[in-house]
Amino acid sequence: MNKIQTTCNYCSLACNMDFYVENESIKKVVPSEKYPVNKGFSCIKGLNLDKQLTSDDFPKNPILKTPNGREEISWDSAYSLFSQKLKDITDKYGKESVAAISTGQLALEEMALVGHVFRNYVGGQLDGNTRLCMATSVVAHKQSFGFDAPPYTLNDFELSDTIIFTGANPVVAHPIIWDRVRKNKNKKVIVIDIRRSETAINADYFFCIKPKSDLVLYYTIANYLIEKNWIDNSYIENFSENFEDFKNHVSKFSIDDIEETVGITKEEFITLATLIHEGDAVSFWWTMGINQSYQAVRTAQGIINLAVMTGNMGRPGTGANSITGQCNAMGSRLFSNTTGLYGGGEYADEAKRKFVGEALGLDPAIFPTKPTLPYNVIIEKIISGEIKALWILCTNPRHSWINNYEFQKAIEKLELFVVQDLYPNTD
Ligand code: SF4
Repeated sequence: MNKIQTTCNYCSLACNMDFYVENESIKKVVPSEKYPVNKGFSCIKGLNLDKQLTSDDFPKNPILKTPNGREEISWDSAYSLFSQKLKDITDKYGKESVAAISTGQLALEEMALVGHVFRNYVGGQLDGNTRLCMATSVVAHKQSFGFDAPPYTLNDFELSDTIIFTGANPVVAHPIIWDRVRKNKNKKVIVIDIRRSETAINADYFFCIKPKSDLVLYYTIANYLIEKNWIDNSYIENFSENFEDFKNHVSKFSIDDIEETVGITKEEFITLATLIHEGDAVSFWWTMGINQSYQAVRTAQGIINLAVMTGNMGRPGTGANSITGQCNAMGSRLFSNTTGLYGGGEYADEAKRKFVGEALGLDPAIFPTKPTLPYNVIIEKIISGEIKALWILCTNPRHSWINNYEFQKAIEKLELFVVQDLYPNTD
């Protein structure tokens, strides 16, 4: 049997799995033992990666919708039809009349290739579903650190003595992360959430807060730590800016109001602040419970500021760390050629254009001069008739777009609608 090592794309961990293949058929799927992320372990989703590929409804050929129903066509016909129609539409309406929406589920090389072809050569709009997922976190990181990159490694889960999850449920959503947490024998796990999640049930401390109260909680903790002088003054002085303004701002958030504003008692609040103060390596983690919530950018920055002011940055087991939802969310952010140049950098930065052009062996004039239209505007412009063709890559906006009836309306206006997916039965 041949062993083919590949990546599970169902969540942000991107575990590696070994597919054992015989006579072009998958016989079994086993987590890769030596892969540093999952080290021979995986969740049930990864173990079932082959099920769709081997199921009877897995289409072997492209399917074309015709007035008489759906018919299978050859790959050659599909390629010709797709490229010819795309060309006809761009010839008639201009390059910006075609769009694609991709996903953080694509592997990095595929992401880079789609971004390169669709943005550089076709000249169309291309955005990813990662825009819906954690654009707020991107802004928080860019504004706080000057660069979009959550500063942690998986090892930090094993090196932190105080692990604080807010709006995250890794027991269910990121089981490999939870496995790393369990391996850490010297830790306290703290969960801040509006519901008693599976992670909250397994935590050492659970603080059940009111919906939309996260930001007030973080500002109140910041104020309390400052009042107690439980802060790292030397770190603040060397590595932060405008601390006095921040101090003035949070001074309005008093522990006396905490029960009414956040829904936890004063005693609970003091326990939480003391845990942050007493930890030697405190790490803060969040995911979609923050990213897709009320005042998400400021809330993420409320967490970042706590890490900075207590000096819990840049050391093993610390950090203000947003956990992504998809296996290649960062690849989509840095290599899809959508909001910045391939590999990072602004479109208007001539030096960066030259650098990327040299790296790719291309004339920089081919690169776009501005970011793509974002996901929501692509849909609006389909409805208004300016975008005529849409290519969906491995995502299901009819289900995941916030107003999915609006998406249905958009599809009906298109002259060309192409869906690329493993599953033939998505909406
Ligand atoms: S933890 Fe995530 S990446 Fe790993 S097997 Fe499960 S779904 Fe796949």
